Amino acid sequence: MSEEIMDYAEAMASFDPVLGLEVHVELNTATKMFCGCVNQFGSAPNSNTCPVCLGLPGALPAVNAKAIESAIRIGLALNCEISGWCRFARKNYFYPDMTKNFQTSQYDEPIAFDGYVELEVEGEPFRIPIERAHMEEDAGKLVHVGGATGRIQGADYSLVDYNRAGTPLIEIVTKPVYGTGAKAPQVAKAYVAFLRDMLRDLGVSDVRMEQGSLRCDANVSLMPKGASELGIRSETKNVNSLRSIEQALNYEIRRQAAILASGGKVKQETRHWHEEGYTSPGRSKETAEDYRYFPEPDLVPIAPSREWVDELRATIPSPPDVRRQELQARWGFSELELRDAVNAGALGVIEATVAQGCPPQAARKWWLTELARRANEAHLELDELPITPAQVAELQQLVQAGTINDTIARKVIDAVLAGEGDPAQLVETRQLATVSDDDALSDAVERAIAQNADAAQKIRDGKVQAVGALIGAVMRESKGKADAAKVRELIMARLG
Ligand code: ADP
Ligand code: MG
Ligand code: ZN
Repeated sequence: MSEEIMDYAEAMASFDPVLGLEVHVELNTATKMFCGCVNQFGSAPNSNTCPVCLGLPGALPAVNAKAIESAIRIGLALNCEISGWCRFARKNYFYPDMTKNFQTSQYDEPIAFDGYVELEVEGEPFRIPIERAHMEEDAGKLVHVGGATGRIQGADYSLVDYNRAGTPLIEIVTKPVYGTGAKAPQVAKAYVAFLRDMLRDLGVSDVRMEQGSLRCDANVSLMPKGASELGIRSETKNVNSLRSIEQALNYEIRRQAAILASGGKVKQETRHWHEEGYTSPGRSKETAEDYRYFPEPDLVPIAPSREWVDELRATIPSPPDVRRQELQARWGFSELELRDAVNAGALGVIEATVAQGCPPQAARKWWLTELARRANEAHLELDELPITPAQVAELQQLVQAGTINDTIARKVIDAVLAGEGDPAQLVETRQLATVSDDDALSDAVERAIAQNADAAQKIRDGKVQAVGALIGAVMRESKGKADAAKVRELIMARLG
């Protein structure tokens, strides 16, 4: 149940919020962090497992090189120092989804540390200091069966799916973030959105908050205005949408303000966010000692060479907001066109389509209209549709050359999505090319005139708008393939 909360503006009059954001990112490597199992969301339960990720006695882990590469690239994009030598550590605890009774993580030797992110909220700049980005593995997933909510409370029994166990994770942790004032919840939301875009641009993760490949734990504490000592924080776990991050922090700030204003003390604890709009207490926090961290003896230390790090540095794209502006200028998009493309997650596919020779406006049109509609219907992201940027560029070329019109193009898209072939080949084998050949069209025009005597007479009498009915008849007969401009010309030459 919800607790007493203070009005937000009133809370801001007495307190300054301090944020601490922990973001977990699942990497999209082909295989898991320490074994060769495929790293895939949505497979049949427990099908992607082996002795290593099941934690069977005697099984030995080996580090996934691609995951190290992604970790370093993320660190570089966060303006971090990259460690020249670091180790994994065992974080010991018992939980049914943890096969080994410890999580292989990093503790005091993270691969990346001391960075920052710069972002804007409503035109105001904020600099978010990054404490570290470290590597670890995800745990399995518990599925609670029975009971109304899917939670453990009230469930009849629980099942464990170890497919997720051993998925490579990067945890990005901020230093305490001061000075965001009343905008704290918005800054937190903007920061996570920034990370999502940055990670997508890096190509290292699917960054799907709703599937859990990007998760945020939101810490916040309050300092009485003018104080210099940090207050006690709460940590709201696994807030899984941008909107919820903002709402959960807003709630926590108001809850803590009510406690402090009445002379109480905030409890250091984890909390759960409820979509109905409040948080509730979880467990009280373990301390580092509870985990009995020690260096992982089964893995060799990681020592990336300076040359490799510099090579990777050259692959880091501009920060998302800078990149957006570059693309907008290069493509000549309006503010609105760019924003729509960003919101649809279409920048990557548009860029790839343009790289295949498609004009930017045409690439935008295909991805944001026809293809966005189909992606939406199929509950897929644009880049998951079974059509490639090269195929879209090829389709556009056919339209531009007048080989097909938009109606036929839509049919071609259907066929490509059904896996039936490439656009040019489909147009060829199915004879979908626009008919603009005079002889073929003249016959069809004659038939249309004969079958629509009324309309024909109107045109003869000078009522030119009646031509639409005749063009329509020819288009129907040709199943959309006739060149409409040509048909009009022929009709007018015959009747006008
Ligand atoms: P834990 O393992 O307890 O979650 P972490 O150090 O991983 O601790 O994360 C805590 C997060 O909260 C970090 O982002 C840290 O900078 C931030 N933080 C620490 N103390 C405070 C505080 N008093 N108020 C707000 N944020 C804090
Ligand atoms: Mg934490
Ligand atoms: Zn495995």
